[in-house]
Amino acid sequence: MSELEKLNKEIIACRKCPRLVEWREEVARIKRKAYMDQEYWGKPVPGFGDPKARVLVVGLAPGAHGSNRTGRQFTGDASGGFLFPALHRAGFANQASAESRSDGLILKDIYITASARCAPPDNKPSLQELNNCQPYLEREIQILNPKVIVCLGRIAFERILRIYPDQRERNPAWKFSHGALFKLGSGVWVLCSYHPSQQNTLTGKLTVKMFDEVWAKAKELIGLEKIFQ
Ligand code: SF4
Repeated sequence: MSELEKLNKEIIACRKCPRLVEWREEVARIKRKAYMDQEYWGKPVPGFGDPKARVLVVGLAPGAHGSNRTGRQFTGDASGGFLFPALHRAGFANQASAESRSDGLILKDIYITASARCAPPDNKPSLQELNNCQPYLEREIQILNPKVIVCLGRIAFERILRIYPDQRERNPAWKFSHGALFKLGSGVWVLCSYHPSQQNTLTGKLTVKMFDEVWAKAKELIGLEKIFQ
């Protein structure tokens, strides 16, 4: 078993946050009407993608009826419905759709993870819950050793700065904004984007063009040419 597989096994078994354990399991038991015939995942959602990825994408947390249902990051919800077509257009994904863990989706040179791995009520993990989950993100970064970290939303960016506190001390001006780009002392790029939640995509705060530019930048930073034909 690889280090990443071992880590993911550990994540799936995690019960460190009592509030989130209760919520994720309750949602999985009660379900949404449209998904009554499906078995919800109802556990922490591990990261997924290419184990040799040079780009690591950090989101917020699973959606109650999205990845808490399907068991794969951004799969089966509106955020994923905006993210995966963009990754497909950019050449990081072999297909634009992501509906279940067995839908044939393959990611290339990209790995997707989250700041918290259990669905939180109102999509808002507490600070303590984010702190509980942070060691998993740190280990993913150690294992993958990415060249670019794409932070989807302010909370993901804050997490990365917590993992590299010396950067914040040296660069107090570093602030989250869409398209902002920073370089850590280690040479790793940190690229910020608004989160592709409906709150941003339906209001026009994050447009398709703006999102495509993020992935074009990520590709430029790793010198990526076309992978999928
Ligand atoms: S949010 Fe993270 S730390 Fe908390 S229970 Fe889920 S996997 Fe464990």
